[in-house]
Amino acid sequence: MTGSPLTGTLVVVGTGPGNADLMTPATSAALAKATDLVGYGPYLDRIPAIRADQCRHASDNRVELDRARQALTLAASGRQVVVVSGGDPGVFAMASAVFEAVEAGEPAWRELDIRVEPGVTAMLAAAAEVGAPLGGDFCAISLSDNLKAWTTVERRLKAAAEADFVIALYNPASKARPYQLGRAFDLLRSIKAAETPVLFVRAAGTSESKIVTTTLAAADGTLADMRTLVIVGASTTRQIGRWIYTPRSEPGARS
Ligand code: SAH
Repeated sequence: MTGSPLTGTLVVVGTGPGNADLMTPATSAALAKATDLVGYGPYLDRIPAIRADQCRHASDNRVELDRARQALTLAASGRQVVVVSGGDPGVFAMASAVFEAVEAGEPAWRELDIRVEPGVTAMLAAAAEVGAPLGGDFCAISLSDNLKAWTTVERRLKAAAEADFVIALYNPASKARPYQLGRAFDLLRSIKAAETPVLFVRAAGTSESKIVTTTLAAADGTLADMRTLVIVGASTTRQIGRWIYTPRSEPGARS
């Protein structure tokens, strides 16, 4: 190991939704300086080799806390560590895992130089593909119940629907969780209008992106996979030609 404990750094970055041009220059600069890259294998694979002396520590997607502890241990030993997430590192991703590991870990980790670089999160890339569906008030909910109870997901979906937020659904489905999006649509159908626009955006912000526009009445929960972001409109969300947008003002508001 090179360096001293005082010179180690840990930067948590998000590489954006996939294409290199949606990665921020600040993230590229952090990657260029790193001695060690830590992250889920497929995310690391998206990063071209920068220097021959960089170590890559690829791991499985489920072991986020182990990965965070490994990154903190490397930084505490003096390495320049970058933890890599897709999208934004603070949105259902590694930045929280790093702070959770700091909270429960070595006291010395609290003195480390830890920084978070923002990235373009999937819902922003997806929204831009279809127009401006997030133009009014919106919220983001992860449908994964790996880290929270499904009853919590349902409580939040109900509250968001009743408050008429546009709802961005992350982690809508996976091989292990094929039924949840269907259940979420059933719950939303009991509160929101049948004609509410629903968007499925797969691989947003990449050259392979695929968009399906439908209504809540017709929305099919089996249409989404792990690379899909689902947006459920508010009562004001509408289609204009091939674009979908949510006005910033509500009907009858003063302009
Ligand atoms: N930190 C990431 C989100 C991680 S959760 C971010 O900020 O984007 C993983 C979920 O994000 C996926 O299941 C999917 O719902 C969404 N996602 C990530 N990249 C995406 C992309 N390019 N297009 C559509 N959805 C994407």
